[in-house]
Amino acid sequence: MQYQLLADAVLLVHFGVVVFVIGGLVVVVAGNARGWCWVNGWLFRLAHLAAIGIVVVQSWLGRFCPLTTLESWLRVQAGSPSYATSFVQHWVQRIIFYEAPNWVFTVAYTAFGFLVLVAWWRFPPRRSKRSNEGGAAHQLPDHRQQCRGGPGAREGLKQPRQSGSAEEKGMAKGECNCGAVQFDIDADLSGVFVCHCSICRRSTGSNGIAVVVVPKERFRWVQGEECIATWKKPNTDWQTWFCSICGSPVPGENDPTRMFVPAGSITHGGDALRVIHHIWVGSKAVWDEIGDAGKQHTEEFRG
Ligand SMILES: [Zn+2]
Ligand SMILES: [Zn+2]
Repeated sequence: MQYQLLADAVLLVHFGVVVFVIGGLVVVVAGNARGWCWVNGWLFRLAHLAAIGIVVVQSWLGRFCPLTTLESWLRVQAGSPSYATSFVQHWVQRIIFYEAPNWVFTVAYTAFGFLVLVAWWRFPPRRSKRSNEGGAAHQLPDHRQQCRGGPGAREGLKQPRQSGSAEEKGMAKGECNCGAVQFDIDADLSGVFVCHCSICRRSTGSNGIAVVVVPKERFRWVQGEECIATWKKPNTDWQTWFCSICGSPVPGENDPTRMFVPAGSITHGGDALRVIHHIWVGSKAVWDEIGDAGKQHTEEFRG
């Protein structure tokens, strides 16, 4: 009886694996069509590829899946008949009474594995941005200095008030245009840096980029980190972070301890924001007229 129950449990897990392998491919294709970024998550995709890979290799070697072997062994202990064929073959025969030689199933598994590889190539998985970034967001070859925010970027934050409601204490929020990427900043925001350099201008198609620099411990992704794509300009330390669905600039790593947040992406908690520094004004566009009270710096600002 005990063995019977265990064998049934293994059977259920095995069905789960089959659903994961087949459903996984469906979800990857459908999810990419509908903009669900999680379907390109590295762990999910690696697990899926490994699952179908094991199935294909086992069938070519003429072996059963270890779960089939385990279930068969448990059934024998319970005094029931064991599997004479592979798991999927067994159940296809049981459910739709389709009898086919083993090679038909080997070809089917291999074809399915090939489709998974095509999906991998067509919709490549992404690693989390948390793990693969390093270095400053933005250093220019001709300027050789950090552009997004120097040591003085601490001015971007007001000191949190000692008392007051949660709203008063300062909780800024922001998101990209499509809403896939969302974040919170646990601080009052005040200082905006505007970079007028040519790289930022081309990146945004406007007069540059306006950002607030915040300590990493105050910044939290709410969702959509896996939707973020990055591009690093070759031979520079300049890097951009953007939503892979809607293309909006999104927060990124300014340096190992701080994040930069595009000021235009802030939706709540930005009432006190004012431009405090303009950087790389020496290379601004001819049509760019600066009219606010922010200090103007020919190149970078180092606090
Ligand atoms: Zn978006
Ligand atoms: Zn710039």
